[in-house]
Amino acid sequence: MSLIVQKYGGTSVGDSDRIAQVAEHVARTKRHGNQVVVVVSAMGKSTDELISLAGQVSKTRPGREMDMLLTSGERISMALLCMALADLGVQANSFTGSQAGIITDCDHTKAKILEVKGDRLREALARDVVPVVAGFQGVSTSKDVTTLGRGGSDTTAVALAAALGAECCEIYTDVSGVFNADPRLVPAARKLGKVSFEEMLEIAATGGRVLALRSVEYARNHQVALHVRSSFTWEPGTWIVREDPSMEQAIVSAVTHDISQAKITVSQVPDKPGIAARLFRGLADHSINVDMIEQNTSVSGHTDISFTVPRADFALAHSVARDLSRQVEASDITADESIGMISLIGAGMKTHPAIAAQMFETLASQEINIEMISTSSIRISCVVGERDVERAVQALHESFALAR
Ligand code: ADP
Ligand code: ASP
Ligand code: MG
Repeated sequence: MSLIVQKYGGTSVGDSDRIAQVAEHVARTKRHGNQVVVVVSAMGKSTDELISLAGQVSKTRPGREMDMLLTSGERISMALLCMALADLGVQANSFTGSQAGIITDCDHTKAKILEVKGDRLREALARDVVPVVAGFQGVSTSKDVTTLGRGGSDTTAVALAAALGAECCEIYTDVSGVFNADPRLVPAARKLGKVSFEEMLEIAATGGRVLALRSVEYARNHQVALHVRSSFTWEPGTWIVREDPSMEQAIVSAVTHDISQAKITVSQVPDKPGIAARLFRGLADHSINVDMIEQNTSVSGHTDISFTVPRADFALAHSVARDLSRQVEASDITADESIGMISLIGAGMKTHPAIAAQMFETLASQEINIEMISTSSIRISCVVGERDVERAVQALHESFALAR
């Protein structure tokens, strides 16, 4: 008998009809002789609605209370799904993250999983009861409810699959797998049959939100086989697997985009040891994730430092950078919230130096200005104006012959 963890995203449980269909699929999986553990997201856009509601009553939105509020979304889905399963004659019990024994640190709204106990889930499975777990949440070491950051239900599912020794973790969503570009932006995007963890990490880190980045890191570290697939067509989707020598190494496997970041530039910073350390320590102490960093060549003892941060942390990052720029007597600080990052990802890129040139030529042919560039061995990313993102992604998809 195999144990399968199935995670259903917001659209997959978006209304009563969807919940009924998910219940049917869980029942079917069980009928085929498998044990199933289910993880659910909040219905539809309800997390966004709760965040907006919080914004209407509070400017401060304390993290502890945000977590208490947002975890309610997943509780609704889990209870409704258990009820739908009961009608199909399948015994199911819902569990909050805390009841499932998902222990996190105390970093509210973006807590990290420290340990997964899972005892109550094992007991339920032993009694032939399907555990349905609320995604995206846990309980901190100081016994407060926490959330794992947006998209965190993917991480819940992978963490449970690892802790329970599941055969695989199925991520059901509203597209039929991982595509070589966001199918919403590029209608000709192609579904990938297999993707290596390394490529998927880059795809998730650069805006391919079909899987949350932390869930891919967790799956790679714990060797959890991931299968991303559709809860609408139920057809086989994309497997995220360890790279093996027989896998075709595409030069460019995917083009991604991300419009969730903002850029801050501190200009005319004295070019001497310790300045960058102070700036980025200040940001790190506020748990702000800095993505791209660029420092210009020094001119008469001064340089400019630009970096990108999540837009959600923009105001805080701006004020931290402003304070520091005063302390170090930098001349100016500028910020741009309307940027987008586009990236090309491919394991075969390591041995093909012309890819960057072709990427820049493609953007130039569209008259798109590049503001920042960064690379890893299997990725090239460019920051451009947000208004240029859609055109850039489509042009790159075509230029690298990624269409169906
Ligand atoms: P869920 O609510 O199921 O977690 P998400 O909205 O988080 O779903 O993720 C699915 C969405 O990810 C798709 O609707 C699609 O628009 C988007 N997406 C972005 N990039 C990709 C990609 N490379 N492949 C597939 N989907 C992608
Ligand atoms: N409901 C949460 C969100 O919208 C978690 C998730 O769906 O993964 O981010
Ligand atoms: Mg998601």
